[in-house]
Amino acid sequence: MTQFDAVAEIMHLEDGIRSELRACQRELTVHFPVQMDDGSRRMFTGYRVQHNNALGPHKGGIRFHPDVSLDEVRALATWMTWKCSVAGLPYGGGKGGVIVNPKELSQDELENLTRRYASEISPLIGTWKDVPAPDVNTTGQIMAWMMDTISKEQKQAVPGVITGKPLEVFGSEGRFEATGRGVLYVAQEACPFRGRPLEGATVAVQGFGNAGTVAACLLHDAGALVVAVSDTSGGIYNPKGIDAEALTRFKRGGGRVADSGAGDVITNAELLTLPVDILVPAAFEGQITAKNAADVKARIIIEAANGPTSPEADDILNDAGAFIVPDILASAGGVIVSYFEWVQNIQGYYWDEEEVNQRLHRMMKKAFHNVVNVHERDKLPMRMAAYVVAVQRVADATKARGIYP
Ligand code: NAD
Repeated sequence: MTQFDAVAEIMHLEDGIRSELRACQRELTVHFPVQMDDGSRRMFTGYRVQHNNALGPHKGGIRFHPDVSLDEVRALATWMTWKCSVAGLPYGGGKGGVIVNPKELSQDELENLTRRYASEISPLIGTWKDVPAPDVNTTGQIMAWMMDTISKEQKQAVPGVITGKPLEVFGSEGRFEATGRGVLYVAQEACPFRGRPLEGATVAVQGFGNAGTVAACLLHDAGALVVAVSDTSGGIYNPKGIDAEALTRFKRGGGRVADSGAGDVITNAELLTLPVDILVPAAFEGQITAKNAADVKARIIIEAANGPTSPEADDILNDAGAFIVPDILASAGGVIVSYFEWVQNIQGYYWDEEEVNQRLHRMMKKAFHNVVNVHERDKLPMRMAAYVVAVQRVADATKARGIYP
């Protein structure tokens, strides 16, 4: 909301639209029982929040986590509106969650919980209403159960009700790699824009999970020199370059980055301040703060993670001349390919991986340049420019639609 208010001020957004965009349209809380393996019934609480659908059906993930709260889901739903908008997607924002630690459930209990939650929120979701997707602790398998539950209830296949499904049940080629691939595509635009070739640029990647491994491998393939990566165990640094593919195989085989022997062992804090050209935070939020921002030497920062930079750190980095490709733009590859999955589901016609990647490339490139144009036109930092683009589209659509009834 602080970010939104600042942007609304810059844009001179009228009060009525401003208060409409500050509010979530619809908030559903569900309390439901789940059959446990020992024969008992246990109650759970879940949410589905729809922020805004001026641009199209609500879109946003479902999180299974003990810390889920209505306020968090509201914030994430609002943020999805801006993310979909900046990426140029015909979607609004939504988000859902269940208060649960899924690691404490058996596979059967997880399936029971997922199906009952899907049934509870079914009045809100639908191909043209609200399309969920995976988020923290939710997987392709969980999406498959949700799609199956809705399809069984409606007595017909409803593949477009949810995205992030496995390939064998209406999923899309390229979905798993999409976020990391989107990072590559924005790096390919950001480097020349900042007057330095991507080829030969040194890169540090914080967080070697889904987004981080794919981004590191693709940046390496594109000729960049990945010199440092990290996971929760710590990091490694090798100024001569790291074989990202080999390290990914090691990591997916259950190894920890710090045990790989691929470079000198460093801490996660050290990784952030290495003398590199490009820093890719791909772990979690709140990593670059007022405490360490002045020590960050990378002059191109591509935020694969959601919210890795605090507002104070943002100011320090901008003042120091760093170029930040903000999360709502840099990590949009995942939701863009979710959109492609939905389009393929509606068409009933499926694309090959090359087609998915080409279309992703086109959309990321266009979104990047839309934001850069505002960054140059209004002399705004990239993050503010991304919010201006996003909020403007939603405000224009909201005004054009008017009020019903
Ligand atoms: P993931 O769980 O697969 O990977 C996270 C990685 O970060 C793990 O390797 C973990 O060990 C590491 N990590 C955790 N804390 C760390 C720390 N303090 N320092 C260094 N490494 C740390 O998650 P993911 O799906 O790759 O998501 C990563 C980030 O990208 C999140 O912020 C997520 O919201 C964002 N994101 C992901 C997607 C997607 O499609 N996967 C899409 C959009 C945004």
